Amino acid sequence: MKQRKIPLRKCVACQEMMPKRDLIRVVKTPEDDILIDLKGKKSGRGAYLCGKVSCFKLAKKSKALDRALKQAVGAEIYDQLEQDFIRVEDEFLSLKEEESEDES
Ligand SMILES: [Zn+2]
Repeated sequence: MKQRKIPLRKCVACQEMMPKRDLIRVVKTPEDDILIDLKGKKSGRGAYLCGKVSCFKLAKKSKALDRALKQAVGAEIYDQLEQDFIRVEDEFLSLKEEESEDES
């Protein structure tokens, strides 16, 4: 068996350390757009959230993204992200299933 180091990241809402691929990345692009980066490939400052809407709601309530992205995130941006978050959740879960074959 090949030993692979799993990169851990902290969820900005519940503060739990999780494998990176179990988290959804929110990124602030160089153009100051704040959006969900499902593949984790976009450049910019990133914040990680568990792939659960409950964690997003927690982040919204505690303004965790403001702190993580070092920028004031408006309520309308949180609302937009929440909608996107719900939309990508299924896709996110299916991506995870594809990748989880080699895991115990
Ligand atoms: Zn979380």
